[in-house]
Amino acid sequence: MKTIAFLGLGHMGLPMAANLVKAGYAVRGYDLAEACRAAAKEAGIPVAANSAEAVNAVDVVITMLPKGEHVVSAYGDLIGKISAGTLLIDCSTVDMASALKAHELAASAGCPSVDAPVSGGTGGAAAGTLTFMCGGEAEAFSAAKPLLEAMGKKIVHCGRGGNGQAAKICNNMILGISMIAVSEAFVLGEKLGLSHQALFDVASTSSGQCWSLTTYCPVPGPVPTSPANKDYQPGFAAALMLKDLKLSQEAANGADASTPLGAAAAALYESFVDDGQGGRDFSAIVEMLRGSRA
Ligand code: NAD
Repeated sequence: MKTIAFLGLGHMGLPMAANLVKAGYAVRGYDLAEACRAAAKEAGIPVAANSAEAVNAVDVVITMLPKGEHVVSAYGDLIGKISAGTLLIDCSTVDMASALKAHELAASAGCPSVDAPVSGGTGGAAAGTLTFMCGGEAEAFSAAKPLLEAMGKKIVHCGRGGNGQAAKICNNMILGISMIAVSEAFVLGEKLGLSHQALFDVASTSSGQCWSLTTYCPVPGPVPTSPANKDYQPGFAAALMLKDLKLSQEAANGADASTPLGAAAAALYESFVDDGQGGRDFSAIVEMLRGSRA
């Protein structure tokens, strides 16, 4: 069985590493934060004293870090500490330039690498039902797949290095825009005297149907499991949605792609987060649009 170093034991990394342990892999976890190391030990994940000890003689290094700068810096530190052939898998959501830089650093050390950002949130991480969007050479992807299967239920090879991040950025741009669209429709419906349930019953079986409506409905009632029924506790925090929308705008500017609705969604989430709402679920933006908050 492969030995895996898991760097970054935060909200996502801890439950993901726990699922690798459950699947029988020899895991050595490490996080810069003492509190995360303690929580990981508590959850039964073997924890190394430092990152050098974590990556010593492992077959695979998985990273689940906040941003691109953390991933590039962690990869820079790894070089020289790992042997050629060690498989590097980055599951963080990062900007395209950092993703490509990480692949370049891996290649310079003779290591196969995969960018494998996830969707599914902390619930999916705990349940082992994440979706992984992967970019990298076919051989690197094949080597990574069984490990990702221990943490997720859908593993998609999106093409060359960086394409996993590209897929994640594009998907979450759809999500941010569609949540605002659904929220605006409920706010307009309220003004027109339409009940939430009536609009839901029509739109969920008509051409307005989408995930933001039928799984994650931003008003309480129609979908009992949506965060709207729990005072918008996340779920998927608005600050993370803003992070992803900014990444999509950065990518669009870099690629000269026209994404006017993506830009508008980023601006709306920015004012929501600036108003101190970043820790709430991203579907709470309906309150700002309604004018009932902000
Ligand atoms: P988090 O902040 O809870 O965890 C990141 C951890 O990385 C922190 O504990 C930090 O101390 C640690 N860290 C930073 N640099 C390190 C280093 N060099 N070595 C070891 N540890 C280091 O963040 P999270 O919510 O777990 O998210 C992680 C990534 O997953 C982010 O890129 C995020 O955008 C993405 N993501 C998060 C969610 C979610 O719902 N939380 C969903 C999908 C994707």
